[in-house]
Amino acid sequence: MTFKRTQSALFVIAALGLAACGDKQEASSQSEPQALTKKDAQQFVEKAQQDLAEMLVPAAQAEWAYQTYINQDTAALSAYFNEKVTSKATSYAKEAAKFNSVEVDADTRRKLNLMSNILVMPAPGDPEKSARLAQIGSELGGMYGAGKYCRTEDECFSLPEMSNIMATERDPKLLLEMWEGWRQVSPPMKALYAEQTELANLGAQELGKKDLSEQWRGSYDMEADAFGQELDRLWGQVKPFYEALHCHVRAELGEKYGEDIVPQNEPIPAHLLGNMWGQSWGNVYDIVKPEQKMDVIDITKALEEHNYDEIKMVKQAESFFSSLGFDPLPETFWERSMFKQPTERDAVCHASAWNLDNVEDLRIKMCIQKNGEDFSTIHHELGHNYYQRAYNKQPTVYQGAANDGFHEAIGDTVALSITPKYLKEIGLVDTIPDASNDIGMLLKLALDKIAFVPFGLMVDQWRWKVFSGEVTPEQYNTAWWELREKYQGLKAPVDRPADAFDPGAKYHVPANTPYTRYFLAHILQFQFHRSLCEIAGDKGPIHRCSIYGSKEAGAALNNMLEMGQSKPWQEALETLTGKPEMDATAILDYFEPLKAWLDEQNQGRQCGW
Ligand SMILES: [Zn+2]
Repeated sequence: MTFKRTQSALFVIAALGLAACGDKQEASSQSEPQALTKKDAQQFVEKAQQDLAEMLVPAAQAEWAYQTYINQDTAALSAYFNEKVTSKATSYAKEAAKFNSVEVDADTRRKLNLMSNILVMPAPGDPEKSARLAQIGSELGGMYGAGKYCRTEDECFSLPEMSNIMATERDPKLLLEMWEGWRQVSPPMKALYAEQTELANLGAQELGKKDLSEQWRGSYDMEADAFGQELDRLWGQVKPFYEALHCHVRAELGEKYGEDIVPQNEPIPAHLLGNMWGQSWGNVYDIVKPEQKMDVIDITKALEEHNYDEIKMVKQAESFFSSLGFDPLPETFWERSMFKQPTERDAVCHASAWNLDNVEDLRIKMCIQKNGEDFSTIHHELGHNYYQRAYNKQPTVYQGAANDGFHEAIGDTVALSITPKYLKEIGLVDTIPDASNDIGMLLKLALDKIAFVPFGLMVDQWRWKVFSGEVTPEQYNTAWWELREKYQGLKAPVDRPADAFDPGAKYHVPANTPYTRYFLAHILQFQFHRSLCEIAGDKGPIHRCSIYGSKEAGAALNNMLEMGQSKPWQEALETLTGKPEMDATAILDYFEPLKAWLDEQNQGRQCGW
């Protein structure tokens, strides 16, 4: 769920600081001396697509070179192309908006909308303001990147070090120190963030939007306000299950740390959940796990016993897709990918999937560790690659996911099929543990994925209110914690200082990466999985289902993938699931045995906050 540079075409633009999507708007703020025609619109779309397509390839190559071989020159090249693509996309977005009131065919309209909605932080036309916006963006990024906490003058902690302590240490004083320490990085961001919001709102208004909030919410093939309501509806479906999970976790944390630290009728203090942001809780599994011993497959051990190296792990993941009927990966994938951490140069190890020429130059970039987690991540990354290849025949602006939640969801959907049944079929394990052992696996997964859902929702709830002016800079931090409490049932472990800017301590806020995509991906992956299992004819419980080997499921998946962004996401969704609505009830189906178990554990406990 972390930010990954994936996808192609417009998604590369998104990775370079912009994002794609669609909406319709009346009247641009620019005056039009001559009436524009339908033909002008079509010509513009054709030319812009061709131009973008040509620019994206060298930009992706420069970025690949930089991320796999960090040095002064590759950094300069990557920055050079980044700037080129950004300014080109900005000018096309503005030009596309000029056709807002011109009558055109539906396909051209969709392409224009996608182009004009491409910007996450639209720059105002005034060159001084535009330069200031770019400067703030890089300052905020720099402040986050350089962030550290120093206990004394010579004892400092980086974010990865602190994250590691949050994950593994159990001394509440130390956890609180790290939690507060990291949040010292963000107060200086606050004034910059407010200024950035003002400037980007101007830019959004020049594109014909009310403000940046409308620009962000309007990228989902429906009215901005209706989309917000849709998210609330989905959250309502998950909430009872989340509350049961929250109740159990709070009770176990109370037992571990004492009820004076974890009061049983209040939100959970955010520093005790094994994660710097309390966003996923898998690291406290050992505290909240079932008492009875669970027979859980150790994939890491199985990989070792069967002599899997990095390449064999990737080959196995490829064969998963081959079993669904997808063509093998091209030879160049094996020649050009980065599978291992380079020994004599710096590289970005964060896993990602690429299509450099937007045709067949597929690659992954990973520093693969020979363990179960990375085995799953490889399946996930290849999910991106197969999606990229499936839509490569679409026009350039349609080469992207149906909406920004879909790309992440596809990778995760595939990873959900790494079940004991699959591991047995590929010969990694000899026996499938009995169903009574599933609770442990389901609880771990729920701590990672379901605990995340309300966080995935609240980050942009906060930003939308900030962008629209409903939340003023003085209210930044209190509004953040109101939403943290409302959705997640978490609270700050200590009173926050008056200058605190806790949203800035989360990467995606200073980096301006929209976050709703992660919420959507968490809902969609279970919905996709449930549908694919039905198509594959799997009659068992869906948490035990693997679509491995099902050509029918593969064909259904491919039908959706190859649409890319050419149609509203509702149509893509319907192609696979038979319904045009997102539906979070698949989460409830998937975790049904766990919900029953949690309800049992929670008997006599006071739940809620
Ligand atoms: Zn991904």
